[in-house]
Order: sequence, then structure tokens, then C-alpha cells
Amino acid sequence: MPSHVITLRNGITMPTLGQGTWFMGESSSAKKDEVAALQKGIDLGMTLIDTAEMYASGGAEKVTGEAIAGRRDKVFLVSKVLPGNASRKGTIAAFERSLQRLKTDYLDLYLLHWRGGYPLDETFEAMERLLDAGKIRAYGVSNFDLDDMREASRYDNGHICVNQVLYNLASRGIEWDLLPWQKNHNIPVMAYSPLYQTRLLRSPELKQVAQELSITPAQLALAWLLHQGTVPIPKSSSVKRVEENRKAWDITLEQGVLDKLDAVFPPPDRKMPLDVL
Ligand code: NDP
Repeated sequence: MPSHVITLRNGITMPTLGQGTWFMGESSSAKKDEVAALQKGIDLGMTLIDTAEMYASGGAEKVTGEAIAGRRDKVFLVSKVLPGNASRKGTIAAFERSLQRLKTDYLDLYLLHWRGGYPLDETFEAMERLLDAGKIRAYGVSNFDLDDMREASRYDNGHICVNQVLYNLASRGIEWDLLPWQKNHNIPVMAYSPLYQTRLLRSPELKQVAQELSITPAQLALAWLLHQGTVPIPKSSSVKRVEENRKAWDITLEQGVLDKLDAVFPPPDRKMPLDVL
């Protein structure tokens, strides 16, 4: 069965199955369900919560802050700085604003959301300051392709711990070079949009394989990402679907199943540009 934790290259541990928050915090009427879903996930061990200053312009961080109140020590909290804020000073200021919305005094992991105009060494200098001050336990990047990772590794003192990218059965391009490179460097892939924002779940072939295993298509999609050694972060605002997603941790996929999935969702046969949403 898939392990529940992974050790990052700086020695800290991170859960292997988390919860996303994109589109949370958009409407006040949905807030109660969003908080309840995140709290259910925490109770079930999906204690990694991924958010960002971008989501609902801070609204998702506020919902997350409510969900983790009184449980901060159980949670592995991840947020992201927008590229437009990722200057030396801007990163620190954006970070402090995120902390206020999240009602906490540290983050477990802070990511650069995607590459923008500021030089990487500036952003990483700010990240290093936050590390030194004990305000973050690790930092990383998101939406970086292999060339970006190679460049980043010139400026990060070996400290980038995670790259969060789009990865799911229907989008396997990173298997060509980025995923093997990250495995070699012990930098886990955090897989965003693991259900392809539900598009994947409509696949008749995925439904068929899931049915044969008496599991749901979402569980199969998540179990496959865990089998690949990546860290999926499905978003759900429903307690029922969070419970369903959590069960992906209990699933072992046999070679025959992996072969069937490869036939329907083939791995890349050449370099593909990094897929983004
Ligand atoms: P997901 O692939 O996680 O899909 C989310 C959708 O799937 C929601 O509509 C949700 O609906 C539905 N869903 C969740 N569980 C189930 C289930 N068991 N059965 C059926 N439907 C289900 O998409 P996201 O784009 O949200 O990706 C996950 C997270 O990754 C984001 O929330 C965000 O934190 C992060 N992300 C990061 C990006 C980056 O650039 N770094 C870009 C995109 C995402 P409902 O809520 O109603 O259950």
C-alpha cells in the first residue's frame, strides 16, 4: 500500500495525499461546506492543505485559516506567492499577508506559483530569509519544466524541496524527463488537478477499470498518482467526496491494472511542453 508520508530532501516529512483549495472562498454561502470538507480531510490524515494568495484573491487562505483553527499543529500547510509579488521584498510582504489570512505564524512549504519577471535568485533570497527566520520549514516552485528546474538549482543552495505541476492520467508529459529528473534529485512532484478538474472522471475506460476493481474513478486516478510516487492534492468541498478520496491510500494497483491504464492513457513518447491549466 502507498506510504502516507514522504521525507523531503531537507529531512522534514510531508503527507503523500493532500487537499487543494482552488475555487474555495469564492462565495460566503459555500464556506461552511468548504471548512467542513477540509476538516474531515485533516481528521482522515489528509493533513497537507494546498492554498495560494491567488485563490479567490486571498479568500481560499481565509477559508483554510478557519478550517485549521485549533488544529494547526496537525497540518502541513502550503501556500504560494504570485510571480508579480516575487521580488526580494515583495515575497516577504506577500508571505506576511498570507500568514494573516491563514491566522498562523509559519508555513510548512512556500512555493513560487509560476515563473514571472523577477530573477529567481531574488525570489530564492527571500525564501532563504524566511527559512533562516524559521517562518517556513521548506520552499519550492510550481509550474517549472526541466529547464527551469536546472536553472533554479543554480540559485537555491539545494533547498528547493517540491515542484508542483499538472499531472494526471490524461496528462503524462512530465514522465519523459521532468519526473525522472526530480526523482533523481529527491524533489517530489506535487500533482495538481489530479482529477483534471473532473474531466478525467468522465472517461468510459477509466470508469470500466474502476468498476472492475470495485472502486470509484476518482480513487483509481488518485491511487495511480500515488503509485507513481507523486503527491496528489485533490480539491473537494464535499465531506463525502473527501472520504472517497482518502480511500485512495488503501489501494494497491497490480501490474495488470497499470498496463490497462497505459493502453488507454499512454505515457509520452517524446518531450512534451509542460501542461498547465
Ligand atoms: P482537481 O483535479 O482536484 O478537481 C477538483 C474538482 O473535482 C472539483 O470540481 C471537485 O468538486 C471534484 N471532485 C473532487 N473529488 C471528487 C470525487 N471523488 N468525485 C467526483 N468529483 C470530485 O482540480 P484542481 O484544479 O482543484 O486541483 C487540485 C488543487 O491543486 C487545487 O485546488 C489547487 O490547490 C492546486 N492547483 C495548483 C495549480 C498551480 O498552478 N500550482 C493549478 C491548479 C490547481 P467538489 O468540490 O464539488 O467535490
